[in-house]
Amino acid sequence: MEARTCPNCGYKYSVAEYLKKPFLKGIYSQWHCTSCRTNLTSVEKRRWYLSFIGVFPVVLTPYIAEWLLSAGFSTAISWTGAIFILAFWTFFIFSFEKFELAQSNRVGIGESSKEPIQGD
Ligand SMILES: [Zn+2]
Repeated sequence: MEARTCPNCGYKYSVAEYLKKPFLKGIYSQWHCTSCRTNLTSVEKRRWYLSFIGVFPVVLTPYIAEWLLSAGFSTAISWTGAIFILAFWTFFIFSFEKFELAQSNRVGIGESSKEPIQGD
């Protein structure tokens, strides 16, 4: 299973399409595949994992800004640069997201945590 690819028809989403559809819709959202109209959803476990890797470095913002300051940039440029680098990192990480067919028979979002954890 490839990243950003429809498991039903094999259509590969570009980063721009991905950002427009699932990324802005939230973690439990479903959407129709652009190509085959199948109901798709994000692989939940993978999305949590990517969220952690993608968002956690936000705590490093002051250090990146300080590093840019020490390289001779102004305060405003250093902070803007640090935020830009981290935003880019987050989008980069999320571009590895994977899709699966939506399970319309799933009992409700609260129930999903009771499912047995499957090994990879
Ligand atoms: Zn499709």
